[in-house]
Amino acid sequence: MIRPTVARVNLGALQANYRSIVAHLAREKPSHPPGIIAVVKANAYGHGAGHVARALEEAGASVLACADIEEGAALRAAGVACKILVFGALSVSDLDGLFDCRLTPTISTPGAARAVQAVAARHKQRLRYHLKIDTGMNRLGFRDANLRRTLPELLASPNLELEAVYTHFATADDPESPLFNEQRVRFERALWVIKELSADAAISAPPHVHAANSAALLRDSRVWWDEVRPGLLLYGIVPPPLAANVAVTPVITLDSRVVAVKGVRAGEGVGYGARFIAEHPTTIAIVPAGYADGLDLRLAGRGAVLIRGRRAPIVGSVCMDMLTADVTGLDVSPGDEVVIIGSQGAERIDVREMAAQIGTIPYEILCRIGSRIERVYEAGNGMKG
Ligand SMILES: *Cc1c(COP(=O)(O)O)cnc(C)c1O
Repeated sequence: MIRPTVARVNLGALQANYRSIVAHLAREKPSHPPGIIAVVKANAYGHGAGHVARALEEAGASVLACADIEEGAALRAAGVACKILVFGALSVSDLDGLFDCRLTPTISTPGAARAVQAVAARHKQRLRYHLKIDTGMNRLGFRDANLRRTLPELLASPNLELEAVYTHFATADDPESPLFNEQRVRFERALWVIKELSADAAISAPPHVHAANSAALLRDSRVWWDEVRPGLLLYGIVPPPLAANVAVTPVITLDSRVVAVKGVRAGEGVGYGARFIAEHPTTIAIVPAGYADGLDLRLAGRGAVLIRGRRAPIVGSVCMDMLTADVTGLDVSPGDEVVIIGSQGAERIDVREMAAQIGTIPYEILCRIGSRIERVYEAGNGMKG
């Protein structure tokens, strides 16, 4: 049994995007192309973490990143073998999961450093970790200016081994913001301080360095260092307002079927609040997808769906389980295909457009595609389903 509203996830497109990013990095920086930490947090941006992670591994990914230990455990349960970096703060997590699931933690506060050291000692293991530096996002991370005070204790932890240092940009997707460059400069300075402190702590192996999310990757090869951390770009979407200089295609599409068609007389209202009033005789198609499936209420009066190769404006209200579209003049019948995200004929509705219509970002649209919607996986060439 499968509902008419399905999300199709094209794993071949995902793998092609991965390879396209690899090729871009090699082309732009042939002497030292950075590796890729493929970001699959939040159920792989709604695409389904297990399938996405395995497809990325098959395409050559050797490091994946997720938000918390629980996501890491889910990836291991799905059969992921490669290295998994956990981005999030660990202070209130079950840290045994790091060992049970062979996860690489981010240490981003002195408190987390002590907690992870204690668990590593209990497990009698030496745990490799990534150190997060806060260079201006003011969220997680050791503040760049305080490292001489905050870092020596961590570097001296007997059961912890520094594998990499990273930071995260607050405004990589805003070409106007000076903060992006300020963060880069602060991070470069922090790397010098960490080098000195590591020498004091008799640490010989220099840590890896990474910083770039999708937007930073697209914008500035100076922040590529040893690895880059694309998320959105892997899923085939360029963070707005940036333009693509890497060829990627969207991985997910969302489609449904018309379940009913209704004629509405001039002057009659449609949906909750009767907010859409037909000005002339109007034909309405009912589509079985609503806000419980992640379609935003604000799409009513702003967005559209594709039916019979045309844009049908979403009118009335987006309900919990349904939406209504104006298909006046189109020859629509129950059973007709409806594209909510994707293309039909010559028309297409992409996630960037939908996000702009309702004043949000593509990330939110993807992550909100509801758990009720089945993901149907389409393998690329040379891949088994
Ligand atoms: C989510 C995330 C990324 C990926 O960001 P995109 O904009 O999707 O490329 C990279 N690094 C960190 C720390 C993140 O949390």
